[in-house]
Amino acid sequence: MPFILAPQLRRALAERVRYYNELGIYDFYQRGSAGLESAETALAAVHADSPSSIPTLPTELREEMPARKSAVVATVAEENIFEISAPKPEYGVSDSIAALKLIREDLGDCTRCKLHQQGRKQIVFGVGNPRAELMFVGEGPGADEDAQGEPFVGRAGQLLNNMIKAMGLRREDVYIANIVKCRPPGNRTPERDECETCSPFLMRQIAVIKPKVVVALGAVAAKNLLAINAPMSELRGRFYDFKPAGVRSDPPWQGARLAVTYHPAFLLRDPRQKGEAWKDLQMVMKYLGLEAPK
Ligand code: URA
Repeated sequence: MPFILAPQLRRALAERVRYYNELGIYDFYQRGSAGLESAETALAAVHADSPSSIPTLPTELREEMPARKSAVVATVAEENIFEISAPKPEYGVSDSIAALKLIREDLGDCTRCKLHQQGRKQIVFGVGNPRAELMFVGEGPGADEDAQGEPFVGRAGQLLNNMIKAMGLRREDVYIANIVKCRPPGNRTPERDECETCSPFLMRQIAVIKPKVVVALGAVAAKNLLAINAPMSELRGRFYDFKPAGVRSDPPWQGARLAVTYHPAFLLRDPRQKGEAWKDLQMVMKYLGLEAPK
């Protein structure tokens, strides 16, 4: 029997598909036989403020994103010429521990986007060295991170720890955060409005920490940090000039270099790509003057 969507749901679906297309995702897979029925339920939940169970691809299956035909591959603007945002509490605070604390306080018990009503247990702000030279940015907290309030503490986190160790660093030497600070229900991809609402706080964290290098873990982090659409194969293998948009750094800062590598969850799924990820990390190590432990 043909499956007919109500107009409202059809619109919601079209909107959702457009968003995924913008992320570079064109192929959709149906999970199990109840896919379409559950799609209607899930889509209804998109616009209701109740927890949804939107069937989504796990991060590891989402990694390789085909390019949009008009994919723009560009470096991020060098100057914040459109810096129009209101002053932030951390402006003028040069101690990064104090400045990060002010950002955390400003975030508060955040209700700025719908994720706060969709089952998050707590906000996962970020962890690590407030003066780190190297920062990793993932997509958003999963169940373990939501439970513990710390990014990358689950299986993907274990692999990230190993990657950090292989670079000759300890987890506490780097800073780790995500594009969104609240767990998307069912580990779905964070939606555009959620990323847009949350990422200014990440930008402020980056502006305070002033790392030499930011590593975007996976396509969602890369797309949101660089504001470009391209497949991982194009995004990887080079540095981008990166300066957080719309925020001021005290003292002024010329920005970081940004590298893109595979998300650890993807590497768990497809360990053959670990060699490629290691190449990305070696590029970062060379720039930072790091050597792999013997
Ligand atoms: N995946 C992410 O993108 N971030 C986390 O913190 C954990 C898993």
